[in-house]
Amino acid sequence: MFVIPLINPDITMNTRFTLIILIFYFAGMSEESYSQEKLRYYDLTKAESYVINNKGTESPYIGKFTKSKEKGTYVCKKCGAALYSSSDKFESECGWPSFDNEIKGTVKRIPDADGMRTEIECANCGAHLGHVFTGERLTSKNVRHCVNSISLDFVPAQLEAGRYGMAIFAGGCFWGVEYFLQKAPGVISVTSGYTGGEVKNPTYREVCTGNTGHAEAVKIVYDPQKTSYENLLKLFLEIHDPTQVGHQGPDIGDQYRSEIFYLNEDQRNIAEKDLNILKSKGLKIATSVTKASEFYPAEEYHQDYYFNNGKVPYCHAYTKRF
Ligand SMILES: [Zn+2]
Repeated sequence: MFVIPLINPDITMNTRFTLIILIFYFAGMSEESYSQEKLRYYDLTKAESYVINNKGTESPYIGKFTKSKEKGTYVCKKCGAALYSSSDKFESECGWPSFDNEIKGTVKRIPDADGMRTEIECANCGAHLGHVFTGERLTSKNVRHCVNSISLDFVPAQLEAGRYGMAIFAGGCFWGVEYFLQKAPGVISVTSGYTGGEVKNPTYREVCTGNTGHAEAVKIVYDPQKTSYENLLKLFLEIHDPTQVGHQGPDIGDQYRSEIFYLNEDQRNIAEKDLNILKSKGLKIATSVTKASEFYPAEEYHQDYYFNNGKVPYCHAYTKRF
């Protein structure tokens, strides 16, 4: 294992057989096609691929799940298989997320060539996860799965492990986009944040300068049995004005641009198809379609802004376009 500094890790994200189906992104698929089992891996960024495909190691203490305590399921970033439960996570002080148990049958053990350590992989897709150690007496199970955060994605407890979809959209002030999408049927959670730029861990103040390259964006976790990527995409294109360039309503600046950050080719195709529909209706579309890069959640006070403040958006409103 090589230790590399993470330059630009991404957002981005088999098992008990019921999960197998779930795991893949059924973005935009009909209920009918949803039932078909279709193996589909998520696109990986360079940094993700370095760890997941080339057995690299992220630097200690920087991974986003090292300290996290939220209840839910950790899933494979590459294929979405559920791997670890938050109830098996413990604080080991080693600098990487540590678990003393895996979800049965989901993690494969392979002795390193030097015979010193045991590598762990996703049993479904072979994604490199990290190493497993025994005999350290850190917990009663006496096992420590030392896992790279970048190899994992997280599904909050309220959603059954593995069965979720994700979407990332930017369409002006994230408070307004979040407000409308959070209320859409089938949406589990919406997080306001920043993506699409160059600066790591940007603050609101930095993004507001318009110099970080980031857009104000939302990351949506949804239930694919209740809605689809395309439903959410269409809603997104109807609650902001996709023809505006360099601003959204009263909010001026590149950080308020209209952009769809796709997480796989299905999403990209759906986005391009729907934008073409709007173009065919005469709209001069400004929305760009871009491969997703790392999504940075915004400061806590930006989350659920309108819900917490009991107000309604000044910057967004629904307009039927499809
Ligand atoms: Zn996997």
